Order: sequence, then structure tokens, then C-alpha cells
Amino acid sequence: MSFDLAARLAARQADNLYRQRPLLQSPQGPVVQVEGKEYLAFSSNDYLGLANHPQVVEAMQQGAARWGVGGGASHLVIGHSEPHHQLEQALAEFTGRERVLLMSSGYMANLAVITALVGQGDTVLHDRLNHASLLDAGLLSGARFSRYLHNDLDSLKQRFQRAQGHTLLVTDGVFSMDGDLAPLPELAEQAKAHGAWLMVDDAHGFGVLGKNGGGLLEHYGLTASEVPVLVGTLGKSFGTAGAFVAGSEELIETLIQFARPYIYTTSSPPAVACATLASLHLLQTEHWRREHLQQLIQQFRQGAQALGLNLMDSPTPIQPIIIGDSGKAMAISAKLRQLGILVGAIRPPTVPAGSARLRITLTAAHTAEQVQQLLDGLAACQLEACDE
Ligand code: PMP
Repeated sequence: MSFDLAARLAARQADNLYRQRPLLQSPQGPVVQVEGKEYLAFSSNDYLGLANHPQVVEAMQQGAARWGVGGGASHLVIGHSEPHHQLEQALAEFTGRERVLLMSSGYMANLAVITALVGQGDTVLHDRLNHASLLDAGLLSGARFSRYLHNDLDSLKQRFQRAQGHTLLVTDGVFSMDGDLAPLPELAEQAKAHGAWLMVDDAHGFGVLGKNGGGLLEHYGLTASEVPVLVGTLGKSFGTAGAFVAGSEELIETLIQFARPYIYTTSSPPAVACATLASLHLLQTEHWRREHLQQLIQQFRQGAQALGLNLMDSPTPIQPIIIGDSGKAMAISAKLRQLGILVGAIRPPTVPAGSARLRITLTAAHTAEQVQQLLDGLAACQLEACDE
């Protein structure tokens, strides 16, 4: 039997779900060049505007000059170099945890943690809207896999009643497609009551939320004992690449011994760790980035509400506008693109059926004028009704 790939691709197209990669011809920033044209962009996760910061770029250049461009081997062989070590220590101090382990990506970090902690006979409890990497990790682990309704504590309680073995409760901190927050204090309470561990993937909150950028845990004032497993990513607010797991000495040592996605992969380039150390410094000292970002979020939400747009309950830089139909979401995104504004349309299966949306992300590199331009573009789309 042959693989009928052409038919699969055609079906994807017919469903308005075909995905394409815009070709970026400039660095990240509020204004980007894509396929020969300049756009005002609201799609990047570079929330603090650090991906293109001169100090971060220089740290990477110097790191490459000193350490070369490749990790060379896996961490356990000969790929664990001094910049990795320094960054792990700096992140442990920043998160107030005993120890931190660097990972090549957030996807790998989630696979590593979940598969190392639970297996057959155990249970992994997921929010329905958790990131794909968390869900994939849960399936790969072989543990009993159960999803509760989004942020619904009663639904979680029911799932806990059917849990067996070691139970890991897993949630996004900030939900990547909705921008809303997980109710961490309540989740921590339920985890404690059931003898489970809470794991938070704060990919979109770390660096952005909390006065000092400590993410959703700082926002709620939660401690390491309440959230024993914290994952953060470095490709978003840090503007570089990779991820980290923060926790106890024992947790990190367990990952080093047992986490296959950590053990069997080449370490990330040490120069990236040098760059990340520079962005960590900026993230810790330049509070104005978070403050400016919050002002832009307020400005956007007020403007969008005045236009009657269908916003979600999001206090974060992720500001989706729910459209519903995939074709319509694509049409609005295309119209905005004609107006010189780049906003991605997110469709199923990334989001639930019938909830296609424009996923707008704001960054500290945007200006108030640029946010106003976005609002004007959205108003123009509304006037034209942007039908297919
Ligand atoms: N977790 C969440 C919540 C994410 O949104 C993402 C990526 N968008 C990841 C993990 C994966 O991180 P990375 O891009 O570093 O693989």
C-alpha cells in the first residue's frame, strides 16, 4: 500500500488548514521584511524585544569567538561547557531553586521531564489546552493520561479520584493560544491534597510576569515546595534559544540520569548560553521592558474592546481575537497583510475546532503608535467585513 501524501495534503488545503512558513528576510523586531515587503509584525514571542539587542548579539559573537559554534557532543559526553554551567547557576539563583538543567528546546524539556518522572502504572493529569509538547510527553511516558477541562478545578478533582501510582499534574503557566493564566495556587493545593507533584511550563510567563520577571510563580508568590517542577523557555522573553528545568537537586540529578531527551542529544552551542546570560542580565535590570509591555497590553485591550472585538481573558502579551471559522480567520489575516500588518491566523488542530483566531502578540519593542496602527488595521477589516 502506498502513502497517498498528495491526498492528505489536498484534504488539508480543502479544510482551510494548510500551513505555510513566511520567509523572514530581516532580524526579529516590530518591523520585519517578509518576502520582499516590510510589515509591522505582531506574531513574535520575543516579548521583551531582546532577540536583536546589541548586548545580546555581542555576547553571542564573543561567545562564538571563545567557544566555537557547536556544542560538539551531548552534555554527558564532552558537550557540557562552562557557559552552560554558568547559565544554569544564574538561572538557579534567579528562580530561587536548588538547581537548574539546560535543555536544547522547550519541547525537549517537556519530553524529558515527564518521561523521566512517570511511566506505566502512574498518572499524568493535563489541562485540555496544554501545549502540544506536554501532551506528547504524557502519551510517550506510558502513564495513564487524563485531561481535565481548561482551568476547571471540579473537573480536575474528578480526574484525581481516578488517578493511580505517582501522579504528575501538568499545566501551562500562560496558555500559549489563549494568553490566560493557570490558577496555580488552587492547582498547587489540589496537588498537595492528593500527594501529587505540580509541573508548570511557564514558557510564556517567565521573564514577562512578576515585578522581577520571575513569571507566573512570582505573580502568585508561590514557592518551590508548591511547584516542585518549573520549566521555562529561552526562545521567548529571553530572545535566544533553548529551555531550562528548575527544581531540587534530586530532581535535576534524576533528569541527568534518566531523561532520554536530555541524555541523547547534542548540547546547544555554548555561545547561545553566553547570549542568554546577557539577556538574563537585561531581563533582571531593565524593568521598563515589562512596564512598557503592560501599558501596550492595556492600550490594545481598551482599543479592541471599543471596536467590539472578541477578546479573551488575557492579561499577557498574547492577545487572541476569536474569529471561529478558519477561512474567515485566514481572510482577515490576509487583509491585514495587504495593509502591511503581519498577524498569524491560528487554526485547528492547534486550537479547538470552531475557535480559529488571530493570535496577536505584543512586545516591549513595539511603540504605542504601532499598536494604534494595528487597531486601525483591525477597524478597517471590520468595515470591510473581510469575508472570504
Ligand atoms: N511550551 C509552551 C507553552 C510553548 O508555547 C512552547 C513553544 N511555543 C514550548 C513549550 C516549546 O518551546 P520551544 O520552542 O523552546 O521548543
